Amino acid sequence: MLPVPAPESVQHEPESFSLSLTEFQPSAPDGAGVGIVFIRHGRVVRCNQCFAAMLGHPDAQELPAHGNLQLQALARETSTQLGHGSHCAQMQLQRRNGSLFWAKVTGWLIHPERPEEGSLWIISDMDLQLRSQRALSLAHEQLEQQVRDRTRELSSTVESLHREIAERKLDQERIYWLAHYDALTSLPNRTLLAERSALAIEHARAAGTPLAVMFLDLDHFKHVNDSLGHRIGDALLVEIAQRLRAVVRERDTVARIGGDEFVLLLPGANAQGAARVAGKLQEASLQPYHIGRHELTIAPSMGIALYPGDGRDIDGLTQAADTAMYQAKQAGRNTYCFYTPQMQAQSLRALQLENALRRALKRNQLYLHYQPQVTLSTGHVCSVEALLRWEHPELGLVSPGEFIPVAEASGQILQIGEWVLNQALRQLGAWRKAGLHGLKMAVNLSAIQFHQQQLPELINRILQETQVPADALELELTEGVAVNDPHAATLTMDRLRSQGVRLSMDDFGTGYSSLSQLKRFQIYKLKIDQSFIQDLDHDSNDRAIVSAIIRMAQALGMQTTAEGVETAAQLQFLREQGCDEAQGYHFSRPLPPREVEAFLRLRPEWQEQG
Ligand code: C2E
Ligand code: MG
Ligand code: MG
Repeated sequence: MLPVPAPESVQHEPESFSLSLTEFQPSAPDGAGVGIVFIRHGRVVRCNQCFAAMLGHPDAQELPAHGNLQLQALARETSTQLGHGSHCAQMQLQRRNGSLFWAKVTGWLIHPERPEEGSLWIISDMDLQLRSQRALSLAHEQLEQQVRDRTRELSSTVESLHREIAERKLDQERIYWLAHYDALTSLPNRTLLAERSALAIEHARAAGTPLAVMFLDLDHFKHVNDSLGHRIGDALLVEIAQRLRAVVRERDTVARIGGDEFVLLLPGANAQGAARVAGKLQEASLQPYHIGRHELTIAPSMGIALYPGDGRDIDGLTQAADTAMYQAKQAGRNTYCFYTPQMQAQSLRALQLENALRRALKRNQLYLHYQPQVTLSTGHVCSVEALLRWEHPELGLVSPGEFIPVAEASGQILQIGEWVLNQALRQLGAWRKAGLHGLKMAVNLSAIQFHQQQLPELINRILQETQVPADALELELTEGVAVNDPHAATLTMDRLRSQGVRLSMDDFGTGYSSLSQLKRFQIYKLKIDQSFIQDLDHDSNDRAIVSAIIRMAQALGMQTTAEGVETAAQLQFLREQGCDEAQGYHFSRPLPPREVEAFLRLRPEWQEQG
């Protein structure tokens, strides 16, 4: 509402009234104001600038002179009716240029008792009002649109912010995952193992509960990688990881910490519990894995360390478990060992030997001694056994009983074994050429060499190079040869035999050979382990065992050689039992080539031939 002055406050004098009229000047720039007109005696006495502008007059002073007929008529008609109230009407007014427009007019008497004092009229241009309203609602509409646009913009900003936050969260999760899990098997890695161990060890310490750490290494995994390729190796690792995970409890951690190395954290497990887990893992490894068209069997060697006795943090426990695992490997693989403090010293020595052994071949620290084997029926030397020697400048003479297992565990045995074969057959070739015709050579073969697929080709090549007939070579195997893969072992033996090479079973009686296995392998000779020979003089059990072995060999068509014969009495007994050959200090120690040659040249059989 416009601030229309109340009738009482209106000045009676038009002069003073004119002053207040100026206050009604249109204030809106688009002319949205109202016109105010003062009429007396039916005449427009005064009007404001806004009313003049409405009618298209440049000057409000001028308008009263012209008057506005329609308005004057209205004032005249209504002055009597106005009384105390006001009069409101819509009417068409004419502008100066003749155009018409609708206006809303409202009038009051200045003084209700005295109509002759005139009336005051407020006129608003309805078109203008309509236009203003439209403009206003347009502006309103525009404003609302702007608000809507802005809201949309804002919500899309908020949305993209949310998206960004979600992406960043995903990134962070991915980074965390990569830092804590093994990408190939999705098992926890060393970092997560350390984190979980810290918590588990803290809990075990506070609650006084047991905890075991197991170090697991796959036996001969390298062979899979080398022979079938890394893709098969990787696929195998994934399957193995799943099987490991399936064996342990939910709260146990199985971490992969290296190629084929896993660490199991077993909270709450004491020695018995850990042994049970190890047993289950062994059992699980019996089932072959099917990778592509390959059927693979792979067994673990495991070492177990117990908190707090074997270590107080995960590094100490893992190291102890690793040492125990190494012992499990030494003990013939596919087994588990508990850590003992003595192992630590042993494994340090093994590490030292392994490093030193790496350079032994290149630095000419390896050489062979030869020990004669005597045919008991004639007393002639039929063959010699090549025995490896290692003399290290600082470590001194290291026994093969100690360094061969180290070479086997580190894989160095393949290179060393090849060197032994080469060296022994070269020597044999030289001796045979130099008059020791018919002399044979026995060479020890590690089970690991035996699993080399190209072993028959390798031996064939060396035989050809050294011009030694195949039947002059006797390979001494140990009973462990067939433990992991009897089928493959039989195939290799068949190939070797078909080349003419003879096979003997070394250290017989100490392992697990079955009669059927001996038959299947078509072993040519059994070498009775020296532990049975040593006590022949005063142990009737050993006498019974030795005579049984000899008789059994005879029944199966195999030769026998007694190892470690040191006394005439032992020799006497063996002769009586029908043993074919003997070897031991009683005849000769293993000797360097020159000495063994001298020993041989003194024997009658060579003199007869020479
Ligand atoms: P082995 O093949 O059973 O060799 C016989 C071992 O008995 C040799 O020990 C030999 O010196 C020892 N010996 C011979 N006669 C007597 C005796 O009358 N009394 C006693 N107490 N011992 C006797 P060595 O040379 O220390 O070899 C130990 C083992 O190391 C060998 O046992 C064999 O298994 C392994 N070895 C030696 N050379 C090689 C090799 O070139 N390759 C492989 N893979 N293993 C080898
Ligand atoms: Mg031997
Ligand atoms: Mg032996």
